[in-house]
Amino acid sequence: MQLILLGLPGAGKGTQAQLLAQQLGLLHISTGDMFREAVAEGTELGKRAQEFMAAGALVPDEVTIGMLLARIARPDAAEGIMLDGFPRTIPQAEALDAALAAQGRGIDAVLYIQVPEELLMARLTGRWSCTGAGCGAIYHELTNPPAVAGKCDKCGEALSQRADDRPETVTNRLATNRAWTEALAEFYGKQAKLHGIDGTGAPADVTSRLLAALEAVSAQSGKA
Ligand code: AMP
Repeated sequence: MQLILLGLPGAGKGTQAQLLAQQLGLLHISTGDMFREAVAEGTELGKRAQEFMAAGALVPDEVTIGMLLARIARPDAAEGIMLDGFPRTIPQAEALDAALAAQGRGIDAVLYIQVPEELLMARLTGRWSCTGAGCGAIYHELTNPPAVAGKCDKCGEALSQRADDRPETVTNRLATNRAWTEALAEFYGKQAKLHGIDGTGAPADVTSRLLAALEAVSAQSGKA
């Protein structure tokens, strides 16, 4: 089985990809993780990807597609894959379709984890960390709020928000991601492979919804 998970930042895509891949015996492939490893190892690929990643931009298609196609051609990917963070552009999606078709397989389903914008904002802007020397405590307004807003429970120092987590930065990141995610949703919608999944509530509930959608897909393809 070949699956793609789509979802905006904060939708829980990475977590769900890992859980589902484990449950279904699929190889979890995250192009973001692959790039981060390449950067950490200082490989040629890492050097090419680094500047784009640092700027928050997409790594060019020719680099990304080459890396991904080489990965899915390896024997451990033959039993099935769970793609997380790829494709992000239409040329990437087309190259993936062509490569899988050449291997006699194709994408079975694209699961789009959907979460309302306000909740994504709350999830992505809720993180605060302690400014106290050597403290390092981290809080989240939704899941782990401090007893007094803006103040560390452990040492009493002020809490601060990272630039990445500020509302204006997050709004921009969501808008950019929404543009390509919607374009891909349309691409796979036309192939009748797109399944919208409610991404609100507990992570375990989202996993159950994803599995239920996949069961429906399997039942459908069994009938065909
Ligand atoms: P992620 O962890 O998926 O957000 O990926 C981290 C970074 O890796 C992104 O901000 C991009 O710079 C790069 N990247 C990951 N996947 C892709 C992709 N499919 N196409 C282009 N760039 C990517």
